Amino acid sequence: MAKGTRTLTGRTGETYRFDPGSLCLELLLTGGPGPYGHFEILHSAADLAAWLVESRLALAVAFTEDDLRITTRELAAVKDLRDTMHRVAPAVARDEPLHSEDLEHLNAWVTDTPRPRVVPETRVLGWSTPITGTQIRGALAREAVDLVTDLAARVHECTANDCRLLFLDTSRSGNRRWCSMERCGNRNKVRSYRARADQ
Ligand SMILES: [Zn+2]
Repeated sequence: MAKGTRTLTGRTGETYRFDPGSLCLELLLTGGPGPYGHFEILHSAADLAAWLVESRLALAVAFTEDDLRITTRELAAVKDLRDTMHRVAPAVARDEPLHSEDLEHLNAWVTDTPRPRVVPETRVLGWSTPITGTQIRGALAREAVDLVTDLAARVHECTANDCRLLFLDTSRSGNRRWCSMERCGNRNKVRSYRARADQ
């Protein structure tokens, strides 16, 4: 499976693949404040490292958990950003007002990001290691600023009434409607088929 695409489990235990289209929105799947605490998977810095190697960040240039150096404090900082994005991202998708305070936090977090490097012997693209937790938050914050501005029109909530998954539509046509065709797309097809059959 492509990095950045996650396998989720629905209420009735069915599994489906979901591509959030963005690292920031992918991060929202790892837990969050209030009711999202139930889904928390980032209990330690090692959990974050394990999650990152399968994330969209590793899509173009892979890295290993050994390439990462994340402190407990940096984990907490990444979770702060995640809490902020739990407020910001749904509001962007619904075209609702955003809190200046949240946006200023994102601005302040745009610091260092992971640095690409060329491996001299092979001329292959790699990362300058270690990649720190602060650089990870920098990458997330930089992307968050893009999501709120240039890419805002492409941030959507799944069209299904009972599904709140958020994604960045990276399709060329720009008409992605569902979190996953396997799940909400299909459920909708079945519903419209039944509606037609009942007429
Ligand atoms: Zn959905």
